[in-house]
Amino acid sequence: MRRLVDAPWPRVSPRTVLLVPTGSTEQHGPHLPLDVDTRIAQAVCEGAASAAGGAVRVAPALEYGASGEHQGFAGTVSIGTEALALVLVELARSARTWADRIVFVNAHGGNSDALVRARAQLTAEGAPVRWHACRHGGRHADRAETSLMLHLDPARVDLAAARAGAVEPLDALLPRMRAGGVRAVSPNGVLGDPAGASAAEGAELLADLVRDLVRTVGA
Ligand SMILES: [Zn+2]
Repeated sequence: MRRLVDAPWPRVSPRTVLLVPTGSTEQHGPHLPLDVDTRIAQAVCEGAASAAGGAVRVAPALEYGASGEHQGFAGTVSIGTEALALVLVELARSARTWADRIVFVNAHGGNSDALVRARAQLTAEGAPVRWHACRHGGRHADRAETSLMLHLDPARVDLAAARAGAVEPLDALLPRMRAGGVRAVSPNGVLGDPAGASAAEGAELLADLVRDLVRTVGA
């Protein structure tokens, strides 16, 4: 593991490429813990940092994100788009004084607006950052995320409680979701179906996600 915080300051290279896992604390259905997005972003960063070697380091994860659409479920803690954008901007302003490059590695779709905003602001200040989306092809607490967690942290997956949620296409759900959040379309918080999830599939998905990020880092 190549964690930034493990390096005493004289060993922090001026060529550092800093990967910042960007997650959320939000409901992930009746069978997954609240930090799924954070754990996935972290695992992808750690995998990419090990594979890329050199001066790639993983920053402490951002465990809170913009999760307003999940606010109808207990456990969700959202700081919203505006606050998240500000956190991202300030974090990058600070880290860029010593890091060569900063890449926000995001595993929660709801954070996208904040990332776009922060990147625009930082680019205008002459401090370009990149952001990379972890695209596992799934939706929310469905087969893909459940598989990833079965691979990463199986003791925290309650498969017996796993149930399908809203399985209609996202386009059909969006108007109701915009008005009433995820709760309006899926009483159990799942978008998609976790059926068929496995640790083996999770390992494959993670390998793909790591490969994608290594490509971004090398580009
Ligand atoms: Zn998620």
